[in-house]
Amino acid sequence: MNGKVYMDYAATTFVRPEVVSAMMSYHSISFENPSSLYSYSNGNRRAIEEAREAVADLIGALSEEIFFTGGGSEADNWALKGLAFSQAGKDKRHLITTETEHHAVLHSMEFLERMGFRVTYLPVDSEGFVPIDKLKEAIRDDTLLVSVAFANNEIGTIQDVEAIVEVCRDRGVLFHTDAVQAAAHVPIDVKSMGIDMLSMAAHKFYGPKGVGALYVKKGIRLENLIHGGGQERSRRAGTENVASIVGMGKAASLASEEMEFDSLEICKLRDRLIDGVMSTIPHARLNGPVGDRRLPNNANFSFVGIEGETLLLDLDDAGIAVSTGSACASASLDPSHVLMAIGLSHEMAHGSVRLTLGRSSSDDDVSRVLEVLPYIVERRRAMSPLWDDYVARREVL
Ligand SMILES: *Cc1c(COP(=O)(O)O)cnc(C)c1O
Repeated sequence: MNGKVYMDYAATTFVRPEVVSAMMSYHSISFENPSSLYSYSNGNRRAIEEAREAVADLIGALSEEIFFTGGGSEADNWALKGLAFSQAGKDKRHLITTETEHHAVLHSMEFLERMGFRVTYLPVDSEGFVPIDKLKEAIRDDTLLVSVAFANNEIGTIQDVEAIVEVCRDRGVLFHTDAVQAAAHVPIDVKSMGIDMLSMAAHKFYGPKGVGALYVKKGIRLENLIHGGGQERSRRAGTENVASIVGMGKAASLASEEMEFDSLEICKLRDRLIDGVMSTIPHARLNGPVGDRRLPNNANFSFVGIEGETLLLDLDDAGIAVSTGSACASASLDPSHVLMAIGLSHEMAHGSVRLTLGRSSSDDDVSRVLEVLPYIVERRRAMSPLWDDYVARREVL
C-alpha cells in the first residue's frame, strides 16, 4: 500500500474484494424492495436469508435469532433499551455492566438511569478482567441483565464469558455481550457459552460500515427500538439495507472459514510488535493481558513522559495510522475511561497508543513501526518537561 502503514483495524477494516463483489448487483440490478410482492423481489429476500444463515453460523445461533441492525451501536442500544423497556412497570429494574464498556453500552446505561433504572458499573482488575466475586456481589433480586463486552476494544482483554454466564444462570439473570471486537476474530458459540444476546458489526470484520446484527436467543422479548413496517419479523422496521446485509453475510462466511488461520498469523505479528516495543523502548508499559486472553490483533502501550496525541501525530507524519486511548473522545482531553479503570495514572493514560493489526498487516509494517517508534519516543521525551520531572522523581526514589 505505497508506504501506508494502517494499524487501526479496531476502528474499522477495509471491505474485502470478495465482499464488494458479492454486494455489487444489489445496488443497481437487484434493487427491488425485498418487501414487494412481485417475483423480482424474491432473490433479494432469499439473499437476506442466506446472509442471516451465514451470520448465525459464525456464532452458532439459529438464523431466526439474528436481527440485522444499522451497526454495532444500534445492536447494543437495542439489547439494553429493548430489554429494559420490555420490563417497564415490572419489578426488575437493575442492570449490571463494567467501567470499561464501549460508549454505545455506557451511554445507553446512563440513559436508562435517567429513565429510572438502576445500573451498577463493575470495576475491573489491572488487566481489564471482571472479578467474578464482584459480579456475584452485585447481583440483586431485581437484576434484569448483565452486559459485559466479549473483548475490549482498547486493550484487547477477552473476558471469561463462560464464568460470567455461570453466575448469571445461577441467579436467573440474562447476559448480553458486545462482541463487536470479538466476532469473526475469536471463536464464539452462543449455545455452548450460554449467551442470551450478542452484538456485532460488519465493518470490524471486512464487511461494509453501517450494518450489524443482534443475536437474541429464542424466547427473549425485546421492545422495538425502531417502529414502523414489518421487516425483520416486525422487530426492526425499515427497508432492509440489502447490499450491506449481503456483504455482512459474505464477510461472516469468509471469517468462518479463515478466522483460525488469520488469527494465528496476526498473533505472530502482534507478539513481534509487542516484544519489539517492550525490548527497545525504556519505561514502556503494555496495557491489557498477554497471550491468548488478549485479542489477536491488539497492542496498547503507555510511554511515560509523552502525550499519546503527540505520538499519534508523529506516527502520522511517518505514514503510520494508529489511535490513542481516547479515540472516541478526540475532542476532549479526558484520558481513556478504560485505561483509568485498569488503574493507570492520568499521566500514563494520556501517554498511550493503540496499534491494531489485520489481514493486510505485514512483517514490513511491524518493522517500520519498530524502526520509527523508539526514535519518536526518545525525541519527544528529550523535549518533554513531564519526562524531566519523571527522571527527577526516579532519582529521588
Ligand atoms: C466499533 C464498536 C462498536 C460500535 O460499532 P459501530 O458499528 O461503529 O456502531 C461497539 N462496541 C465495540 C466494542 C466496538 O469496537
